[in-house]
Amino acid sequence: MSVTKNISVLGATGSIGVNALNVVRSYPDLYRIKYLTAHSQADLLIEQALEFSPKAVSIGDANQYEKVKQALPEVEVLSGRNGLLELAGRDDVDTMLNALVGSAGMEPTIKSIQAGVDIALSNKESLVMAGDYINGLLKKYEVDLYPVDSEHSAIWQCLLGESPEDIKRLVVTGSGGPFRTLPIESFINITVDQALNHPNWAMGRKITIDSATMMNKGLEVIEARWLFHLPAEKIDIVIHPQSIIHSMVEFLDGSVKAQLGLPDMKIPIQYALSYPRHLKQDWEQLDLAKIGSLTFEAPDLKKFKCIQLAFDALEEGGSVPVVLNVANEEAVYRFLNEEISFNAIPELITKAIDAHEFVEHPELNDILALEQWTQAFIKRS
Ligand code: NAD
Ligand code: MG
Repeated sequence: MSVTKNISVLGATGSIGVNALNVVRSYPDLYRIKYLTAHSQADLLIEQALEFSPKAVSIGDANQYEKVKQALPEVEVLSGRNGLLELAGRDDVDTMLNALVGSAGMEPTIKSIQAGVDIALSNKESLVMAGDYINGLLKKYEVDLYPVDSEHSAIWQCLLGESPEDIKRLVVTGSGGPFRTLPIESFINITVDQALNHPNWAMGRKITIDSATMMNKGLEVIEARWLFHLPAEKIDIVIHPQSIIHSMVEFLDGSVKAQLGLPDMKIPIQYALSYPRHLKQDWEQLDLAKIGSLTFEAPDLKKFKCIQLAFDALEEGGSVPVVLNVANEEAVYRFLNEEISFNAIPELITKAIDAHEFVEHPELNDILALEQWTQAFIKRS
């Protein structure tokens, strides 16, 4: 790899965004940052822009536009939702890294595809809400989409050189989160601080709660369905508390391939940018003798109701995964605000799915309308 890649990072100030900039910093000749966006952390965005000299940045909170503009007189500064969508739609980059959180990340994915820009996708919610639609666009615009999510990066790597018809099933691994061994009777008392305390991964607040409810695994099964073009029956979950095996593929002859590594998102982020190369890094390497043992167990679907909700949503299809995703997101924010209990998260999602008007083949405008309906529904429930 000798040609410099121009990259935009949407959601640069988040957990994935900051890790992506760490990767970029280590290969200044290979990667050039062209666009950066942030929602509200103007100070960090300014700091990043001063270091990486992008052509333009966008700050979501329009009240902070003046502050960013004054700090970056040489840089084009945009703001608000339109600023984000504008930068997502620019075609003068090679790869757009979507490190946005939640349903807000879906339209930027679509804009980049329509601009013919390849995507490194961390925002799994894009595919959960609009997987079928996005796959159609990828084909139409001949755009490549590379997964950043560690499980999907693992499956992608296991599938390189293989024939799709030889796949028996995908096995998505999950740590089980902080409540893997907590009895179901105690779930009612789970506090926000307990739920934010993930055993293996340091991540943004929304995905950390998704990991505690295990909705994250459910969303990842839906993500895998669209990324790898396989039905839900061919996607299983296994709990692996050490988070060393990031996922596996089982083939028809009984052979199973796995991808291993320390739980550090910099590895799959870099691979999505450096594919097909695995570029050298000095970060801590996997030492299996130090890890000692790798263990596995079946997921507890009675305790973690969100997993079953996601499988059901995939089976029902149409608009159900849209409502599942948005209802989950809104319920998670209400839990983080201490307005609802941990157990209320799957309850509210179920209520929203039952109450919504089913659409068999949602188009983009249906998806956006359902997003608004679901947000309002959860806020008043
Ligand atoms: P985060 O909350 O740390 O960062 C989110 C970023 O998006 C920030 O830069 C923020 O400014 C921006 N943002 C937030 N709300 C926005 C909005 N409404 N409009 C525009 N921008 C907005 O999140 P994260 O943990 O980095 O996760 C990002 C995505 O990556 C999520 O989809 C998550 O599921 C996925 N992911 C994260 C990890 C991880 O280790 N953090 C691992 C796998 C997948
Ligand atoms: Mg993951």
